[in-house]
Amino acid sequence: MLVINKLLKPNTIEEALRLLKDNKKAHILGGGAFLRLSSDLQIHAAIDLYGLGIDKIEENDNEFIIGAMTTLRDLEVHKALNPLFSKSVENIVGVQLRNIATIGGTIFPKYAFSDLITALLVLDTKLIFEGKEDISLEAYLLEKKSDKCILKSIIIKKEKIKTSFKTIKNSVSDYAILNAAVSVCHGKYKVAVGARPSVSSLAYEAMTYLEMNELTEETIEVASDIAMNELTFGNNRLGSDHYRKDMCKVLVKRALMEVMSC
Ligand SMILES: Cc1cc2nc3c(=O)[nH]c(=O)nc-3n(C[C@H](O)[C@H](O)[C@H](O)COP(=O)(O)OP(=O)(O)OC[C@H]3O[C@@H](n4cnc5c(N)ncnc54)[C@H](O)[C@@H]3O)c2cc1C
Repeated sequence: MLVINKLLKPNTIEEALRLLKDNKKAHILGGGAFLRLSSDLQIHAAIDLYGLGIDKIEENDNEFIIGAMTTLRDLEVHKALNPLFSKSVENIVGVQLRNIATIGGTIFPKYAFSDLITALLVLDTKLIFEGKEDISLEAYLLEKKSDKCILKSIIIKKEKIKTSFKTIKNSVSDYAILNAAVSVCHGKYKVAVGARPSVSSLAYEAMTYLEMNELTEETIEVASDIAMNELTFGNNRLGSDHYRKDMCKVLVKRALMEVMSC
């Protein structure tokens, strides 16, 4: 059961960070959907980010600026963002949960099973923090755990980009056994594979190979092989490392085929 002793409602993001730094045992609340699952968690002071104005999607000519408290449902139904990554969120449990779970609460803890992180990793995605320097999603995922800072917004560069997201699950709304995303922008490919079961990672060698070779059925086969061999896979209740490795080839191949055909 989740027990919250004290709920703090800051008026600004600066105040929220101050509260976080001043209270050793304080905890940030996103949507609370994942925290709520804890079997035995006592939060001394929960800092509620609602009402700080970081739950909006804004855009200008060059980028989308997504507040960290934007829900997965808001992302899913946003007309311009929908083609970029709706496939990665549309089957996360159900609409009720997606109305609660936030993009900030997904990215900040670097959930390894995340479908959304994999989809965002093949876009030009930058993270804006209070209490920490801005950083690309790619670099953030490689960093050690961040302490005493708050994710404020996520910036996605507007580009002429083609994307594809693929996943394999035991049932449609289950956690992914493996997920993969591919993008191509001005001839530059990105390939990301997540839920391995470790957090999503780019397949750099496959990306380099794709950059140097025209996309054909043959090069897709080779690139999928490279991705499968360069990434590491592990075991959990959903699948074995061997199974994940085999499925990596299948998902990357399907994603590249889709990008080639659109
Ligand atoms: C039953 C269930 C099934 C799910 N299945 C899937 C799935 O199949 N695929 C998938 O991709 N996702 C899945 N999710 C995860 C979901 O997409 C969200 O990632 C998750 O709910 C966390 O979002 P939240 O807003 O609820 O965060 P919370 O539970 O509020 O917070 C999660 C953590 O992030 C911290 N945090 C939150 N916001 C911020 C911030 N702005 N700055 C700093 N720290 C912050 C909190 O302190 C906490 O440690 C599932 C979630 C649930 C509850």
